[in-house]
Amino acid sequence: MILTVDDLTVAYGSVVAVRNLSFGAEEGKILSLLGPNGAGKTTTLMAIMGMIPIASGAVRLQSRSIAGARTEDTVRAGMTLTPEGRQIFASLTVAENLILGEAGLSGRDGGRWTRKEVLRTFPILSERLNQDAGTLSGGEQQQLAIARSLLSNPKVLLLDEPSLGLAPQVVDLIFSLIVQLCEHGITVVLVEQNAMRSLEIAHHSVVLSAGRKVFDGSASALRSSDDLMKAYLAIQ
Ligand code: ATP
Repeated sequence: MILTVDDLTVAYGSVVAVRNLSFGAEEGKILSLLGPNGAGKTTTLMAIMGMIPIASGAVRLQSRSIAGARTEDTVRAGMTLTPEGRQIFASLTVAENLILGEAGLSGRDGGRWTRKEVLRTFPILSERLNQDAGTLSGGEQQQLAIARSLLSNPKVLLLDEPSLGLAPQVVDLIFSLIVQLCEHGITVVLVEQNAMRSLEIAHHSVVLSAGRKVFDGSASALRSSDDLMKAYLAIQ
């Protein structure tokens, strides 16, 4: 396992959002983290990135403990989050957004994902380099957000709701890009409201409900079980 989460508990004040959660992500594979609204998916991603404090538990990236580490150190160690809502800089150009993605990486070894390589993977961004990011379509903004994350050359990429609000063809494009990233050896932890699509490309799945793990197994086992899909994901 390249990423292991062991007995993780995260609370917002007295509200426990994630309780005693353990799971592992296998190198070069896609892990689909599913569950209804409020189940604790985003909280899990933010906690393992060090963006919110954890109450207890261990997080390891390539056997190295990163629980409680500063987010920038976690990025340097090889894990990046593309957050929900994309969080690109709308009033800066695409090129400037990419330059910012490269900034703050001093000390990190070079890797495959240079600006040139990123633009080769997301050709639409080459055509938009001098355009303000806020003027891009939703799908283009999502590609920019993922492109920016890739510039830190992550071994593990956490994606929070990458298809949210996108048109169906654009969702297809984003999912095929995720598969491509996986083929390049990146481990992807994917949070998606589109459970069926997510399970089509995922190898493994973990399902949360009210902060607790209720399923941990192969994506195909989850997908082919009507009972599980109905019970946890409200899919008939
Ligand atoms: P969604 O699909 O709606 O984004 P989620 O599975 O990502 O849901 P989280 O956003 O992690 O779930 O929320 C888990 C629980 O923590 C919910 O009960 C939510 O209300 C609570 N929560 C999330 N953020 C905060 C916060 N900043 N302060 C207090 N409670 C929060």
